[in-house]
Amino acid sequence: MRTHLSRNSNSKSTYLSESPERAISYSAMFGENVFNLHKLKQYLNTEAFEQISEVIDKGSTISRGLADQIAVAMKSWALSKGATHYTHWFQPLTGATAEKHDAFLDFSPEGGVLEKFDADQLVQQEPDASSFPSGGIRNTFEARGYTAWDPTSPAFIFDKTLCIPTIFVSYTGEALDFKTPLLKSIHAIDSAATAICKYFDKNVSKVIPTLGWEQEYFLIDKATASSRPDLLLTGRTLMGHASSKGQQLDDHYFGSIPTRVLQFMKELEYECMLLGIPVKTRHNEVAPSQFELAPIFEEANLAVDHNSLLMDVMTKVAAKHDFEILFHEKPFAGINGSGKHNNWSLATNTGVNLLSPGKTPMSNLQFLAFFINTIKAVLNHEALLRASIASASNDHRLGANEAPPAIISVFVGKQLTKVLEDLEQVSKGKLSPQEKTDLKLNVIGKIPSILLDNTDRNRTSPFAFTGNKFEFRAVGSKANCAKPMTALNTMVADQLNRFKALVEALIQEKNMKKDDAFFNVLRDEIKHIKTILFEGDGYSDSWEKEAAKRSLSNNKTTPEALYAYISKSSIALFESQNVLTARELEARYTVDLEEYTMRVQIEARTLGDIARNHIIPTAVKYQNTLIENVRGIKEIYGNQFKPLAAEQMALIEQISKHIAEINTGVTQMIEARKKANLLHDAKEKAMQYRQEVFPFLAAIRYHCDKLELLVDDQLWPMSKYRELLFNL
Ligand code: ADP
Ligand code: MG
Repeated sequence: MRTHLSRNSNSKSTYLSESPERAISYSAMFGENVFNLHKLKQYLNTEAFEQISEVIDKGSTISRGLADQIAVAMKSWALSKGATHYTHWFQPLTGATAEKHDAFLDFSPEGGVLEKFDADQLVQQEPDASSFPSGGIRNTFEARGYTAWDPTSPAFIFDKTLCIPTIFVSYTGEALDFKTPLLKSIHAIDSAATAICKYFDKNVSKVIPTLGWEQEYFLIDKATASSRPDLLLTGRTLMGHASSKGQQLDDHYFGSIPTRVLQFMKELEYECMLLGIPVKTRHNEVAPSQFELAPIFEEANLAVDHNSLLMDVMTKVAAKHDFEILFHEKPFAGINGSGKHNNWSLATNTGVNLLSPGKTPMSNLQFLAFFINTIKAVLNHEALLRASIASASNDHRLGANEAPPAIISVFVGKQLTKVLEDLEQVSKGKLSPQEKTDLKLNVIGKIPSILLDNTDRNRTSPFAFTGNKFEFRAVGSKANCAKPMTALNTMVADQLNRFKALVEALIQEKNMKKDDAFFNVLRDEIKHIKTILFEGDGYSDSWEKEAAKRSLSNNKTTPEALYAYISKSSIALFESQNVLTARELEARYTVDLEEYTMRVQIEARTLGDIARNHIIPTAVKYQNTLIENVRGIKEIYGNQFKPLAAEQMALIEQISKHIAEINTGVTQMIEARKKANLLHDAKEKAMQYRQEVFPFLAAIRYHCDKLELLVDDQLWPMSKYRELLFNL
């Protein structure tokens, strides 16, 4: 029987991180459990502090002596906060975070125990890499892997454990995680963008990509969810008839937040404040039981860490409130799924947002250079950008009329479309003084410094300019943002380098002035980027046709989309920017394909089990009741029983048909799996799973959902959509 018992059962008197006094302000507690530079400063002498600041700023290597001092400082701080353990905290290719806790404990020479933590423990650890996906890297070499401290992301304490953000690499130096290539891509875009900024301001010495993610999720009552093996094992419902009320009334979006959820949100925000995660907005989303949380944006590395950490914290806080939290991109058929918009921009050390139009024509020329080059980068590598957000779960959401399609296009809005059109008219070669004045006054001088109030926001676009940043909307809610951010940073870095080379050629060879050269190169780029600019309805069939004419890729499934990771152009891109090697890309490609296969495999197994162990027996039980009923009618009415029992008999037949369909479907699905499992090539196997196994999920579900409508509600063993979604 499905249960609804434990609702609101626990007392929530204390928060996860207990606080005797909850009324303190967010600003006072922000970052309290984070060992940031400000705190580090109190423990180090001036020289050491300057050294570590330089390491963080310039990426220079850290000396042993300095690492020792920082370890001592970190330990004192952590112990003063009551921490008992420490861990290297990293993001392996599983998509989850990984940690192995060690106590600050060692035997002292005098015989007792003492708290030990020095540079050795801070800088490097050696977890066994063989239990993490490596895409074959570990097989050929050694199983050993190393985690190494990332001083650019501060250590923090969660649940009495000091967590030290680290990268994770193999014995032979290949990246086995998301952070390593992300950091390299941040470095690549820093050099490329700084070089462009220098044309405008010599004081710019560093450019940092910024990221503000928007996390969508579902909260389901734990007891209600507990009767759903599909939710618990796969993160989504593999069956379930639509509830008569879904999201058609649009009454959930921005509606008042249910009290029970608000309690969860408050505790979550409290934890976030302690951890220095600057969460800012919270609201109901479109689907029932769906919510969103967004922070103030931060530099990309920190924002990625914070998002990964947040998902962990959310899971823990949700459990305390008797919620099952769903990060899956499509937990329920027929209502909206969840995404994680990645708002991305570039910020200089001088405090300028490079994607924010400025107040002067020259600052707008700089803005246009970054704006146009970003679009060109997306055009150059659109298939790769699609690959960077590909997963079995996100496939359900992309193009499902709620999320952007699998075709990558860029939306810029009316105003900027007009600016691009005008710029395209610039004549070739050196500009006449008149033309330049016109341009400055009437075109780039006219870009309003605030474009934020874009009334023509296009929700169907996967990559939209939203006033002072680009918003990549195709990212999945479950995904690690590092993946798309690494791809984006790298492609923009590469494009900026190309742009600079073209500009320099005009300056050096054609003796042009900087702005003439910029206008000339930008004009040519505008001609190219038209291919990827699209302002219309991304959900429409006509766009699919139009996109095909423009030769934009439209990879609807993950096994097809992933190939872009190892295309010639992607390998050349990542290698030239020193972000990932061909070997690392091959490995990641394999890991992603294998993950796809396993996800579909788990879903197929789970559905097979539920269909045979839950649904068929329940249907048979109800059918027996009907048979009993018919028998009884016959007993009473003899030969006249037929008209009286006709409906029941029809039901009995319908149920038999559905049972038969389910049973054959499951048998055939098992056969299809067996065949696919014989394949050794990861791509072939994933494709086979997509083409031969995956379709059974919907086919079998169809009959289970029909039975849900026929069978006595009392007998139905699993929570129904209406119970899962309208129970907060
Ligand atoms: P929306 O209408 O999409 O919710 P918001 O203005 O609320 O738009 O911003 C959404 C996200 O964009 C927030 O997480 C915010 O921090 C982020 N954001 C704003 N400016 C930038 C920027 N310069 N770089 C990166 N992210 C940004
Ligand atoms: Mg948004």
